[in-house]
Amino acid sequence: GNSTAVAASSRDEEPDRQCPICLGEIQKMKTLEKCRHSFCEDCITRALQVKTACPMCGRFYGQLVGNQPPNGRMLVTRDAGLLLPGYEKFGTIIIQYVFPPGVQG
Ligand SMILES: [Zn+2]
Ligand SMILES: [Zn+2]
Repeated sequence: GNSTAVAASSRDEEPDRQCPICLGEIQKMKTLEKCRHSFCEDCITRALQVKTACPMCGRFYGQLVGNQPPNGRMLVTRDAGLLLPGYEKFGTIIIQYVFPPGVQG
């Protein structure tokens, strides 16, 4: 008989300690609860004052007032170079939501 051994190792996990805003080491890490992106507390606090959305993925973090603008778009792209374990055949599908700034009329 044959037996198959599956070796699982995840040593290539990169410690995500770089702040995408100041590009330095994250100080007082603050992780956004919906998208799990991490920033310095100071950096993300300032960024959210300018725009209440995640600077990395654009996820909205402000208070929703009224309806979203009617002409938002959803972009779906495929990155064949980004492979998810177990789904290597499919590449990675990236979904981007694009809503122009403004208030619905
Ligand atoms: Zn920072
Ligand atoms: Zn994000």
